[in-house]
Amino acid sequence: MLAPLAAAPLTVALPNAPPARRVSHPAAAAAGLARRERYNRGVASYYLRNFGCRTNQAEGAEIEAQLRAAGLLRADAPTADFIVLNTCTVTAEADADARAALRRIQRENPAARVLVTGCYAQRAPAELRALPGVEWVVGHAEKPAIAQLLLPAEALGAPPLAHTELGGRTRPNVKVQDGCNNRCAFCVIPSVRGASRSLPLPDVLAAIERHAQAGVAEVVLTGINLGQWGRDLVPRQRFADLVRAILDRTALPRLRLSSIEPMDWSDELLELLASAPRIAPHAHVPLQSGSDAVLRRMHRRYRPWHYAEKVWRIRERLPQAAIGADVMVGFPGETAAEFAETERSLAALPLTYLHVFTYSSRPGTEAARRAADPRWQPVAASVAAERSRRLHALAASKRAAFARACAGQPLAAVTLGDAHAGWTRALTGNYLDVLVAAELPPNRCIQVQIAAADAEPLRARLI
Ligand code: SF4
Repeated sequence: MLAPLAAAPLTVALPNAPPARRVSHPAAAAAGLARRERYNRGVASYYLRNFGCRTNQAEGAEIEAQLRAAGLLRADAPTADFIVLNTCTVTAEADADARAALRRIQRENPAARVLVTGCYAQRAPAELRALPGVEWVVGHAEKPAIAQLLLPAEALGAPPLAHTELGGRTRPNVKVQDGCNNRCAFCVIPSVRGASRSLPLPDVLAAIERHAQAGVAEVVLTGINLGQWGRDLVPRQRFADLVRAILDRTALPRLRLSSIEPMDWSDELLELLASAPRIAPHAHVPLQSGSDAVLRRMHRRYRPWHYAEKVWRIRERLPQAAIGADVMVGFPGETAAEFAETERSLAALPLTYLHVFTYSSRPGTEAARRAADPRWQPVAASVAAERSRRLHALAASKRAAFARACAGQPLAAVTLGDAHAGWTRALTGNYLDVLVAAELPPNRCIQVQIAAADAEPLRARLI
């Protein structure tokens, strides 16, 4: 930790505006010189914290690559000179988490220079700028210039490295798509990330091949609405084409797909998963609600029976696959009967885990605009909490049943970073977190067998 820095000028990069310019005055110049001197001695450090989804994690990894390329040292605690919070705004709770992190930094490291980016920064820059200790607020468009914002220009000798620099990580996320063309009534993401855009195929292949050559065992393909990949490209391409090209034209040992909307699970995509052992048998299929009326109010583009048909087809083609769902409780106007429909359908479906969210109003969404509509009345917090508790209990029982069903079967897995005292953490293709009885380096493809399905975490042996 360096000595406290003098107060620096407040500089803000507004979302979708050119990168902020530093205001120059004598105190700022002196602070800049002192910082540059420390930088030149090679001791400045950064701490980066990602909130939210895999897409944000992928973008956080790109920011880290910039900062390391600029010579900053990574710190694992917020005691660093520079702190970057890569925020999420999908729920009110996500906003509150970011503000809590800022308060903690103010308490524990008031001299830190703090930059806030991500979806919260994009949605409400003025709100964040007004918080104590925040020096920069940076929207999505300025993320590639964060190192330039943090450091004096003359300190930035080397060009930023490609985002595939690993920094010891396993299972990197590769973002191939951003934005969303849907307008789900509860979701603020299209307004902060814009319309769907795809990374062209050659760029995806190059990024994945770099990971493969660096020794990565598994890459997670991510996007805000991943199944929309390719629809904006000219000529238009299909997501299944992308997956096939990755298999055919890269040496990546294992590919995992993140969340894909129910109607984007085409038969062709499913056949690829079923026939290619290099793709992890894992399908994350957002549901949100099992009630037709609630799905309609949400403007979700499928009915509960479409969803059930897709999930059963996935189970039929991939008998050992992890199948997960996002589900929301407490959407405005959700009645007891509508929640009961959701609970019943989840119980009946062959799902292996659930991500349960409680609705919170997001400014600018249809649900927020309709708050005065009698059919969109808020669900009492205590009722939503009880619904959430019930679904969490259901999720735990489904996960345990799946682990028991997999016990004794050969499962492909990838080792993660922390071997210790005879054990190594690994993730199976079908998304079970296991402790393997062996000390192994990260990024190894192994075969395991679950030996203790009731232990937490699960225990497995090498086979
Ligand atoms: S599909 Fe719906 S929930 Fe998902 S990002 Fe798009 S608008 Fe939001």
